[in-house]
Amino acid sequence: MTLAPYAARQETSRGRHVAEPSSGNRTEYQRDRDRIIHCAAFRRLEYKTQVFVNHEGDLFRTRLTHSVEVAQIARTIARSLALNEDLVEAISLAHDLGHTAFGHAGQDALNECMKPFGGFEHNIQSLRVVDVLENKYAAFDGLNLTFETREGILKHCTKAKARHLGDVGQRFLDDSHPSLEAQLANLSDEIAYNNHDVDDGLRAGLLSLDQLAQVPLFARFYDEVITLYGQDLSAKQIRHEVIRRMINYLVVDVIETSQAALSSLQPASIDAVRGADRALIAFSPEARRLNVELKRFLYKNLYSHHQVYRITSKARRVIKALFDAFLADPKLLPPKFSERVPPTGDDADRKIRARLIADYIAGMTDRYALDEYDRLFDPRRLR
Ligand code: MG
Repeated sequence: MTLAPYAARQETSRGRHVAEPSSGNRTEYQRDRDRIIHCAAFRRLEYKTQVFVNHEGDLFRTRLTHSVEVAQIARTIARSLALNEDLVEAISLAHDLGHTAFGHAGQDALNECMKPFGGFEHNIQSLRVVDVLENKYAAFDGLNLTFETREGILKHCTKAKARHLGDVGQRFLDDSHPSLEAQLANLSDEIAYNNHDVDDGLRAGLLSLDQLAQVPLFARFYDEVITLYGQDLSAKQIRHEVIRRMINYLVVDVIETSQAALSSLQPASIDAVRGADRALIAFSPEARRLNVELKRFLYKNLYSHHQVYRITSKARRVIKALFDAFLADPKLLPPKFSERVPPTGDDADRKIRARLIADYIAGMTDRYALDEYDRLFDPRRLR
């Protein structure tokens, strides 16, 4: 497959922090993807909640299946646009590595706890996982990924935080864009979660087809499916036939809109993409509007649903209780963390202590966090 001139390519890569000999049989971005798949944080995604808490049922998305769906969508679009599939896959599979247990409730709770110590942000944590926290290689900390994969992982960042993030923080300071592959992984994330959350919401019985028939994007394809097949389909078939059409519509829209933008601007290289006056991977205005309406519907009816809220509220209490207990008494941390807690207690030391605790908590899967909570607070638990 020939890459477009504006695609990322290893020959023009900004490289790795620690230089390594090339692999011979794999491209640099394939190597990045392989390192991500073989890291512990990637395996933990299997037991981290996307929206529905992991033990609610075996069919709901987890962070792992979400990441695989993001990679699938991103690769489809990348191939159509002659972008670098290996890079887009690496970014997609790594984009949620820094997410806490219990979905956004977990992230919000940990951010709240970390407010006095610089906050907690899952994007920055994903970068921290691949740059620092994975520590099984002899020659370097982290996974020593290429600049382009790291650039894609850090998808949002405030300017204040970007100042401390070195090479990959720079684009937030000079308002430039990341590679097309990074832009694409970001949009594919949105396509994946909007659609699979509709699917999971319906399957869980928290959303109904009647309710969704009021949402324009869903309604458009719901009507098409009913016209084609009549009312004979099962609810499961209707759900699937509508959602596959919604995904396809958004994917084709991104391909066509982005292709038009690329044809008119004709960026000659990845650096021309970075310096362009706008993001070039995008939805059309109509698809964007339909997508935003769907997202609003999900916020109102799924993410704030009473049943979801009760569980996420419990999740917040678990995260906060763990954080508070470790902060008050770091000797409760497992030795590999407590050994690194500075003994004295000035402001800088307290920040280091809090960050170690955040790293420990952010790495926990849902079930590990619940178990750790029991180990700390249930007087009958011995270990
Ligand atoms: Mg995601």
